[in-house]
Amino acid sequence: MADFDVGLVWIRRDLRAADNAALYHALTRCRRVLCAFVFDRDILSPLARNDRRVPFIHASVVELDRTLRDAGGTLMVRHGVPLHEIPELAVECGANAVFANRDYEPSAKARDEAVAQKLASKDIAFFTFKDQSIFDHDDVLTGSSKPYTVFTPYKRKWLATLTPDALKPYASEDHLNVLAKPPGNVRHAIPSLDALGFGAEHAPAFPAGTSGAYELFDDFIDRMADYDHARDFPALKGPSYLGVHLRHGTVSIRALARTAHDAQRHGNKGAETWLSELIWRDFYFSVLHHFPHVGVPGDHRAFKPEYDRIQWETGDAADANFAAWCAGQTGYPLVDAAMRQINQSGYMHNRLRMVVASFLTKHLGLDWRRGEAYFEALLNDFELSSNNGGWQWASSSGCDAQPYFRIFNPTTQSKKFDAAGKFIRHYVPEIAGLSDRDIHAPWLAKPDALSKAGISLGADYPQPVVDHDAARKRTLARYDVVRGPAKRADDSRSSSADAADQPHAEASD
Ligand code: FAD
Repeated sequence: MADFDVGLVWIRRDLRAADNAALYHALTRCRRVLCAFVFDRDILSPLARNDRRVPFIHASVVELDRTLRDAGGTLMVRHGVPLHEIPELAVECGANAVFANRDYEPSAKARDEAVAQKLASKDIAFFTFKDQSIFDHDDVLTGSSKPYTVFTPYKRKWLATLTPDALKPYASEDHLNVLAKPPGNVRHAIPSLDALGFGAEHAPAFPAGTSGAYELFDDFIDRMADYDHARDFPALKGPSYLGVHLRHGTVSIRALARTAHDAQRHGNKGAETWLSELIWRDFYFSVLHHFPHVGVPGDHRAFKPEYDRIQWETGDAADANFAAWCAGQTGYPLVDAAMRQINQSGYMHNRLRMVVASFLTKHLGLDWRRGEAYFEALLNDFELSSNNGGWQWASSSGCDAQPYFRIFNPTTQSKKFDAAGKFIRHYVPEIAGLSDRDIHAPWLAKPDALSKAGISLGADYPQPVVDHDAARKRTLARYDVVRGPAKRADDSRSSSADAADQPHAEASD
């Protein structure tokens, strides 16, 4: 006996038919189920017309529609404002209930609240489900029922809370026979990319849809055992590259975590580390949920309020440094290679995200929010919670034990993680002729080494925009504003904090 005659599943960042919690609940509680997706005008309008994510989402929508059609349904697609489109679609389809998977971003929560109210005024129920993460809301709390603010104890509790049920798939794909077509008068065709205002010529260079996710995942499973080591070297194919798929839900987090958890139990060290990264993702969702001040639209605040007292560099020189950072023209080859990677592909290797974020805040003295916004505009896998968490980690204002006086040395990082300069040579070809020793710090190369490599510093490649030692001193002085005597005592404790409290092993040098 079904609870509802007609259910509407509002697909958002869960673009898949398999193991989808909201879809499963609708399919098992309603006699007939329709599915809808809205290209949200409010989200799309401010994006650059060549944004790489929109073609990815579009291709994933097309694939999901095909999957639903094969099973007798359809994905109804609208371009508009969800607050208007979803209640309208629900009414037009005669739905008694709308089902969706939860979102943790403050603006999405506000949107869902408004949609729920509008639906309620039409006597239509609205149900939301946990699907993006393994645990959410109050699933993982401290012994005194508080949210965790440091990763390592959170991870310990996360693992202790984990039961087979938490990783169990929702077999939505086994119930697709309940899917129905929309009534004839309902507008639902998928708009073209052109109609959305985005050029088809910017089709994603990475595989889209659930098929694309599994292409990447199948490839990664064979490499998972090496992840522990390979993930730190940007010239190696170490990570999974699944971030964009997790962002848009073309793959289920339960499926990924289950695979990693099973492999870890069989002694796969790489799988254990990879699972830990997936737990970081849950952790940052939890931080955003419990401490929404870090992600208020247009007004992101420091997790630790005293860090909002820092005076960041402003003015023409600061703007010029920011432009150099964005363009990959700082004169620090690893930083420049990383920035060119994100500019050219929309992806940046995790270690390099840490290096360039530290460079922006602690070498250039620029507000972390400027870098955060730049990443938001360009990252294919942009996730408010993880991006904010990563930037606040880098600027030391975040919810972890990273002491502010740990400052990455970009040259040492370069020698350590791109020793042979392979990654640098790929993205900064103008200095490719330098030796493996000189390529990390061209300004230290002897004049004859530079001329042999055909480089005139300042003309072919910039002089460093800032000196490391001088920048370090300035940063320590800048951060002093958040420190009182009591805080200094804290620092000495936190500087010996567990290395696992940094997203990836050791923090600095
Ligand atoms: P893999 O190494 O294969 O990891 C698998 C998945 O685990 C990732 O896709 C991601 O979902 C999760 N994950 C891995 N590392 C982290 C981490 N440190 N924190 C949270 N989740 C993690 N990640 C995003 O998903 N979106 C962002 O916008 C984002 N911005 C970042 C900004 C900064 C300044 C920093 C330092 C890190 C940021 N990260 C972000 C975390 C991490 O860099 C990326 O998740 C990772 O590089 C994505 O590549 P991958 O999918 O190949 O990851």
